[in-house]
Amino acid sequence: MTHGEHWIAGKLSQQVPATFYSVNPRTREQGSIGFSDATGAEIDRACAAAREAFAVTRTYSAARLADFLDAVAAKIESHKDDMIATADRETALGEARLTGELGRTTGQLRAFAGLLREGSYVGAIIDSALPDRKPAPRQDIRRMLHPIGPVAVFAASNFPFAFSVCGGDTASAWAAGCPVVVKAHPGHPETAQLFAQAVTEALSDSGFPAGFFSLLHGTGYEVGTRLVQHEAISTVGFTGSFGGGMALYKAAAQRHQPIPVYAEMGSVNPTIITQKTLETRGEALAEGLVNSVLLGAGQFCTNPGLVLMQDSAEARSFVHMIAEKVSARTPQVLLNAQILAGLEKSIALTTGASAVTVVTGGQPANEPGYCFQNTVLQTNGRDFLAQPGLAREHFGPVTLLVLCSDRDEWMHVLAALEGQLTASVHGEPDEAVELVDVLGLLREKAGRVIWNGFPTGVEVVYAQQHGGPFPATTAPATTSVGLTAVARFLRPVAYQNMPDALLPDALKMNNPLGIWRIVNGELTRATG
Ligand code: NAP
Repeated sequence: MTHGEHWIAGKLSQQVPATFYSVNPRTREQGSIGFSDATGAEIDRACAAAREAFAVTRTYSAARLADFLDAVAAKIESHKDDMIATADRETALGEARLTGELGRTTGQLRAFAGLLREGSYVGAIIDSALPDRKPAPRQDIRRMLHPIGPVAVFAASNFPFAFSVCGGDTASAWAAGCPVVVKAHPGHPETAQLFAQAVTEALSDSGFPAGFFSLLHGTGYEVGTRLVQHEAISTVGFTGSFGGGMALYKAAAQRHQPIPVYAEMGSVNPTIITQKTLETRGEALAEGLVNSVLLGAGQFCTNPGLVLMQDSAEARSFVHMIAEKVSARTPQVLLNAQILAGLEKSIALTTGASAVTVVTGGQPANEPGYCFQNTVLQTNGRDFLAQPGLAREHFGPVTLLVLCSDRDEWMHVLAALEGQLTASVHGEPDEAVELVDVLGLLREKAGRVIWNGFPTGVEVVYAQQHGGPFPATTAPATTSVGLTAVARFLRPVAYQNMPDALLPDALKMNNPLGIWRIVNGELTRATG
């Protein structure tokens, strides 16, 4: 028997006795490494070390933080074969997907390093003094962003690399200069260990305080709740279920000092297909939609889980095409027993509602692993509107097609939806003007609005927005993917009448960093 370990500020804390193991979703066999929940003392040690580390790293230059992010990316690459093989055994996501995800993870770390080297992310704004202003002189005010403090990150089950130990939340918190305490996802604890080892090596090579990173294991809610409630933690990043996100949000709000929780909790990602599109290119669209619905066994928060069309002969033939294509694909293995159980429950609720038809699938697949049939459900707009529960997420290879009586009805369906991560419209170029009102409504509902495309595949770029109104997230003003994700872990400070020598370099008069700033209302990178 081998024991798993928490990594607390560079030191291993062995877990005896073991209380949980990872499980191979393809075979349902238990792994050989035993893990247990972090104790209260271990959580305290990790958080105290993060607080101590912050006293040092909050003064680090952007260039030094950037070098660390690059070092972590290089370490991940040097361990990548082991990471991919272990994650494949723990998640069944497959080597091809995991290879791509590993590249996305290192790419993300390097992209944040680039952001730091460019430097303008600190949002420097200078409004110089106007001593002669009447009736009162104006003070010199200079504002910029500083790191907020230690961050608790909850790893996601469905992205063992890109949203886990060194994923987007961690990379953006580190980029801000914040230490991170990660709560590993119990679905892939062995993968988490390998990442913790890579980070610990990078910390030591970079001369960073070991408390800049800790990894705690746990299953059950106690570890996560205690972590969020620890006084040293200043902010929380979470990707997972609505129940989990809201429980942590409430726990954070009940603290003596409430803290922000950036929880990304999923979405059904409404997809609207116009009648004209169905007539012109229904078949090609069906292929694209099926690919998106089944990608990664549908275990994406951006899965197109709700498709709206106007009822017509073309719409009915589209439903038929989708069902044929979906049932022709072999069911894929899901991440773990909880995801399968959650999917069975949500499907049972939906199919138990009135006027919902199972067009294909709808049952666990008869396979050794955690498998669910590729599933297409259908209902009509009137019954959808009468039963708000039909807007629930089915986290897996499932989509619900809603046939509406007319355009007004699908506008009502859209208007009735709660906040979403994405919303997509498939239309023809000459319909753009007619769709202005639809786009206006979708903008109110979603963080990303897509024209003639599918929501899966979220680019990590400066302009990305992965978020949306509640219940998609608890913080609609921010993103968890893309480079502006760093803003979640930065806090603005304004300096009034500060002598140049006491100002941070980003705000000094001669702009020694050469960064873009807003100086007296003008965007400039002037130096000297
Ligand atoms: P989850 O159940 O929300 O768990 C995610 C993490 O949060 C785990 O570390 C979990 O700890 C912790 N957690 C959950 N509830 C908690 C609570 N009440 N108090 C403290 N900690 C809590 O998500 P999951 O395991 O990934 O999958 C379950 C469901 O989440 C899926 O079926 C799907 O609906 C949704 N999901 C959404 C996304 C998304 O992108 N938004 C991604 C993955 C899954 P423990 O496991 O140790 O209890």
